[in-house]
Amino acid sequence: MSEYEKSEITVDELNDIGTDVLLIDIRNSAAYYHGHIDFAISAPKASCSEIKKIIKENSKTGAVIYCSIGEKSKELVLKLRRENICVWNLKGGFNEWLIKMTEEFNEDETERYSKQVILPQIGIGGQEKLKNSKVLVIGAGGLGSPVILYLAAAGVGNIGIADGDRVILSNLQRQIIHNCYSVGKEKVLSAQRQIRILNPNINVKIYDEYITADNIENIIENYDFIIDGTDNFESKFLINDACVIHKKPFCHGGVLGFEGQVMTWLPNGGPCYRCIFEDVPKGKTMNCSESGVIGAVVGIIGCIQALEAIKYIVGAGELLVGKLYILDGLTMNTRILKFNNKAKHCKVCGVKPQITNIKSNKELYNRSFCGC
Ligand SMILES: [Zn+2]
Repeated sequence: MSEYEKSEITVDELNDIGTDVLLIDIRNSAAYYHGHIDFAISAPKASCSEIKKIIKENSKTGAVIYCSIGEKSKELVLKLRRENICVWNLKGGFNEWLIKMTEEFNEDETERYSKQVILPQIGIGGQEKLKNSKVLVIGAGGLGSPVILYLAAAGVGNIGIADGDRVILSNLQRQIIHNCYSVGKEKVLSAQRQIRILNPNINVKIYDEYITADNIENIIENYDFIIDGTDNFESKFLINDACVIHKKPFCHGGVLGFEGQVMTWLPNGGPCYRCIFEDVPKGKTMNCSESGVIGAVVGIIGCIQALEAIKYIVGAGELLVGKLYILDGLTMNTRILKFNNKAKHCKVCGVKPQITNIKSNKELYNRSFCGC
């Protein structure tokens, strides 16, 4: 075995070692920014003394060094080894690692997601997480339309859609997943067809039924994240209570007129929807179809919900947990109301929860569902 062969490791060997090894990326800063191996330290065009300094600073005795194709790093590794520094070259460099990591994706997917995979917050690892994730969208209406389209476009591999409604002409003003050909058809079938046209790599499961106290638990149990795309208080409290009881992360969205709001709930996170809004308002309440709604505002709110789901799945940024984001579409003022603690009196997550079972509290959620 030559001196060089002893000093290089393959991508498979690197993956077996896991995160114990110090990884040093000697490509230029722009290349590093657009994608690098997880936990690698950037040291553009580093010299032998710089590498030695990095190893010392990280209290390690050695490191794996890589460049784009494994040639420049090879020279550096050989020089360092002559000084008895314990370093290895990554065979084939970053390119070889990228090929291995993208094996899970077909050619269509590799090209399709290329613009988001280069984001440091997503990368190949994040794209894999999206592909393996399961998101349920309740309501294939005004909010559900942009949510479903953006999740499918981003490569969320498994999307569930629950809605028992059929498309009517007045839906098309805001429910952009449907079109003239969908009028009279089931919304879930119309949405499924659009996903197939947009991104055939996505698995779609449809539930041609309104969510109720009887079926919601069975439906949400198969998903990692739930989107509330409904437009009436009864459904919103039902989704909240079922998700809190079953510890399912979810994102609430609501629109009335020109105003919209979003918040996200995570198990062991902040307050829930009921902590803030307590109960279904008494007396007659208006929903969007009764009081009027402008499609673009519903679209913005739905896009924020889709973004919350994507950020949750890839673990990027901050979520609207314990925060109620409010948009006034007329003035374009936005506010974020912060709620640091759960409400002690909350009926589902408070100190003495009264709602611990969905089916035995059916009367709380009685109302026919309307997709906004
Ligand atoms: Zn609560």
